[in-house]
Amino acid sequence: MNAEVAVRHATRRPNLKDHARPALRDIFSARGWPAYRAEQVLGWLYRSDAESIEAMTNVPSAIRESLAAEFDVDALTVEAMQRSVDGTVKLLLGAADGARIEAVLIPEERRNTLCVSTQVGCPLTCDFCATGALGFTRNLTCGEIVDQVLHARRIMAPEAAITNLVFMGMGEPLLNLPNVSEAIRLLTDPKAFAIAPRRVTVSTAGVLPQIAPLLEVAPIHLAVSLHATTDEVRDMLVPLNKRFPLGELLETLRNEPRINRRRPVFFEYTLMEGINDSEEDARRLPGLISGLDAKVNVIPMNPHADAPYRPPAPEVVDRFTEILHRAGVRVTLRRDRGRDIDAACGQLANRAANPDPQSGSAPQG
Ligand code: SAH
Repeated sequence: MNAEVAVRHATRRPNLKDHARPALRDIFSARGWPAYRAEQVLGWLYRSDAESIEAMTNVPSAIRESLAAEFDVDALTVEAMQRSVDGTVKLLLGAADGARIEAVLIPEERRNTLCVSTQVGCPLTCDFCATGALGFTRNLTCGEIVDQVLHARRIMAPEAAITNLVFMGMGEPLLNLPNVSEAIRLLTDPKAFAIAPRRVTVSTAGVLPQIAPLLEVAPIHLAVSLHATTDEVRDMLVPLNKRFPLGELLETLRNEPRINRRRPVFFEYTLMEGINDSEEDARRLPGLISGLDAKVNVIPMNPHADAPYRPPAPEVVDRFTEILHRAGVRVTLRRDRGRDIDAACGQLANRAANPDPQSGSAPQG
């Protein structure tokens, strides 16, 4: 950390966006202000998208002045934006301490999905993931998580809305559970972002003790990065497997009452040529997850400069999904979006900010 960054970090002020409704009401009542004023402020921040406290005109000026003296409202600023040929947009966002993260907006015919980050870098060092190769800097605050949504909304057409949110950007959400939980409260609060909980998905590499606490926050969907059908292969791809191996992972999910027919667990399975793409793997997978209300998302590896893995040939991908399908597994093949701007799964590594002279142009599939 250089001197300038250290100073800016030390002077970071509390941010209004770090608090969901219950905490904000507490802040207001501690100052002797009526609770409904907190709800007005929430409306300004997340429904009207006020960019300053000054702009909250129906809040008494004494409250506004007192809030402005104590709190910031901006957590992130947009440093760069890239648009893919397929319409996917990647935002490079900067925090007050100079940290940079990315968020990806994926417009589709009937929905707009935003993929948000939860940490600066990631401590999990998954062997095939570009974010993992960055190392870990720090957790994002709640304000920094929800500001990704506000910034994405600002670049959309006025009549468009973010309908789906996936916590699948940089970082491991379940290693930042308090801030991720507070952000989920804001995002699903009808008086704040009002996103339907079933349209929010949080993905984990398998931090088992935090799964139940996460699902207590709101009726959201859980996604689990599976990627292998044996501990031997998963130990190599997802080192966290050494702490929480496959057997314990699946037992935890089987014992979780909040995973059910209405709210199945989504398994992500990134296919890597010669690593986890054999017919044996495809035959083993249905047995592993049997008895679980689950869907499997097959994602051909998005190649990048920091990992040697490649996607299998299309026939191999088709054969893999076909075997799962025949075994009764609900399986979808995820189309890769935004690969030309390094915005696809596992490619988020701030390349725009930190161009890697060895990697040349963006990797193509
Ligand atoms: N840490 C969480 C959230 C990240 S979600 C988790 O592991 O679930 C990002 C998803 O993309 C994860 O399933 C991750 O394993 C997967 N992924 C990482 N690198 C990838 C790559 N190069 N190609 C395809 N998927 C990748």
